[in-house]
Amino acid sequence: MTNNDKNTSPHMLPPLPYEDNELAPVISAKTIGFHYGKHHRGYVDTLNGLIKGTEFSDISLEEIISSTAGRPERSAIFNNAAQIWNHTFYWQSLRPGGGGKPAPVLMKRIENSFGDMEACRKDLLNAAITQFGNGWVWLVMDGERLKVVKTGNAELPMAAGMKALLTIDVWEHAYYLDYQNRRADYVNALLDKLINWEFAAQNLDS
Ligand code: MN
Repeated sequence: MTNNDKNTSPHMLPPLPYEDNELAPVISAKTIGFHYGKHHRGYVDTLNGLIKGTEFSDISLEEIISSTAGRPERSAIFNNAAQIWNHTFYWQSLRPGGGGKPAPVLMKRIENSFGDMEACRKDLLNAAITQFGNGWVWLVMDGERLKVVKTGNAELPMAAGMKALLTIDVWEHAYYLDYQNRRADYVNALLDKLINWEFAAQNLDS
């Protein structure tokens, strides 16, 4: 990255919430280097280029997403804006030393919505395995209930009025260097060791 013109590019790549080697061995520093350093940054740079001098140049990322969703003629702007949002949310959905059990307030909601933690986990894994091609798996709040949804490409659940609590990136670039085609192994390891239930619990109230 050599050309981030901060004076004319309103959207910035947010800092990673941890060092690039802190998610290893589940997600290697090499994967983070490409995924954050190239892919996420690439969406930021591309969006800044696409919106320069347009009606989208001085509105927030969320406003760009909501005003371009479902408009095929704006799909390039939507895709890059949504991918910035999705990736920032994904990095926060992970943490070194994650996994384990959610706090009681979130656990109660999980039990009310799924029956138990194991069923919630199974839904997350199944959504990841069955998402055909690139996309995202989400734990969302839909009204008072939690549920698992999957989206393709850059799509995100807010467009359908649901509130995201957590996401898992299932684009191949998220796991291919570490797991090749073994998406289930990546998701299982992530759920066991990295998933950030504290972040999910914060999002319940945000
Ligand atoms: Mn990604």
